[in-house]
Amino acid sequence: MTAAATTTPPTLPTVAPTTSTARCPLPGAATSRAVIDLGAIAHNGSLLAQAAGVPWMAVVKADAYGHGLGPVALTALSAGASWLGVAQLAEALTLRSLLDEAGVPRPAGEPSGRAPRVLTWLLPVMDPARAAAQDSPLRAALAADLDLSVSSLSQLDALLAAVRAQGIPARLHLKVDTGMSRGGAMEEDLPALAAALKRAVDEGTVDVVGLWSHLSRADEPTSSSTEEHLGRYRGAERIVREAGLNPPIHHLAATGGLLWHPGARMDLVRVGIGLYGLSPDPRVATSAELGLRPAMRLESALVQVKRIDAGQAVSYGGTWSAPADRWVGLVPLGYSDGVPRAASSAGPVGVGGLRTSIVGRVCMDQVVIDLGPARDETGAPLPAPAAVGDTVVLWGAPGSSEQEAIPTADEWAQACGTINYEIVTRLGARIPRCYIGADSGGDYALP
Ligand SMILES: *Cc1c(COP(=O)(O)O)cnc(C)c1O
Repeated sequence: MTAAATTTPPTLPTVAPTTSTARCPLPGAATSRAVIDLGAIAHNGSLLAQAAGVPWMAVVKADAYGHGLGPVALTALSAGASWLGVAQLAEALTLRSLLDEAGVPRPAGEPSGRAPRVLTWLLPVMDPARAAAQDSPLRAALAADLDLSVSSLSQLDALLAAVRAQGIPARLHLKVDTGMSRGGAMEEDLPALAAALKRAVDEGTVDVVGLWSHLSRADEPTSSSTEEHLGRYRGAERIVREAGLNPPIHHLAATGGLLWHPGARMDLVRVGIGLYGLSPDPRVATSAELGLRPAMRLESALVQVKRIDAGQAVSYGGTWSAPADRWVGLVPLGYSDGVPRAASSAGPVGVGGLRTSIVGRVCMDQVVIDLGPARDETGAPLPAPAAVGDTVVLWGAPGSSEQEAIPTADEWAQACGTINYEIVTRLGARIPRCYIGADSGGDYALP
């Protein structure tokens, strides 16, 4: 493993895009939908895997960053992911059920090592008695054949109680804190934790399969932070080895580490945001520069188009007023759907070839968009540039059609003072997801 960090973003190899021909009807009574391009997910996964050159984990926490857990997980497996990762145990249990239903083999039933593994890293807190109870979530985790992260002695105690009660050894990844000061064992606590793990390994109750951590500033290619993380990681490796443990899988990098810190790739990379076609930091390199294809397109329809007079205020608080006689349109999406309230008079939208934006405050279920002047310079009336029923795109892959002026999740993030991660993951549960590009082929059938 080399420690060298690159200072320039690598150019990734090009993979031919798959065509998406599947239909994606607007479901039922809904007026809005998120169209998820599974062909783009597969493309991004293959591209990043090629760049990484090591096995990869598709990070599908938070309902696959808002894209839909089941379809994304199966697409990622078909694209070559050998691991799936989620934050919470509840998510992992749901994922295991979905995988079972789809006929994906479990690691325990596939000693060849070809079955994908599922890692989860936020376990519920409980004492050993609760952990051993019949309905213990930790026993459910063992029965579901999950890989679990451990970072403290109290967590290990609970896990060992669950192991004894369930009669299934735990597959553990020892999480160390290498400088983020979030989860993970601190260096001073590591010798005792490693010794306890070694005792458990010797009695056959656990298998320590991984040593891992997470980078705090991977989106800064020139910062020395990642070097410091790597240094602390090596220190942790030494402590663990001295305790007699030899975890075979070392992992540190998420998408940013994979792209901008080759020395952090180790044995496995955990790919989240890049899988969804978004850059970990568009200021360092945009999706397009990285060859990634944004997979989510949020669209709705104009439900009303009206002309308002010059000076007329729009939406709660009247924070925006028409500078002249103006056409505006009503779009049935609001902050409960994940359109941030911070997008008031700022969030960009595309209507046909027209590129415009939200005017006035974002409401819970609705926004108003500007459709342009209602009169020309001579005062003669102008027709509305869009009609009720026209499709409005909030964000998507730029240039998916020449007729459309589609804003990106990156532009939304900038308009709202946040990051692209938050734009896509906060997409509301009320928005139906529909899938295209599933015809690109794969090993697992989508439900
Ligand atoms: C979310 C997460 C990832 C994925 O990060 P991206 O930047 O989206 O690639 C990887 N590892 C951990 C521990 C995470 O929490």
